[in-house]
Amino acid sequence: MPTCRGCKEEVDALVAVTVEGKKVKLCEDCADRAREEGEVARESESVIQGMMGFKGRR
Ligand SMILES: [Zn+2]
Repeated sequence: MPTCRGCKEEVDALVAVTVEGKKVKLCEDCADRAREEGEVARESESVIQGMMGFKGRR
């Protein structure tokens, strides 16, 4: 199970977001929060991978 970098919880799928120029993988909740805080660009590619059950090797 991948672990969210934001809340340290294990989640089924992480969302890759860019925060202040850095890519981070967060769970949906943390990604939403990060987006609300701004400067975040959700990467649609990663979202699709998440929906397909992509586990993310990095
Ligand atoms: Zn989280």
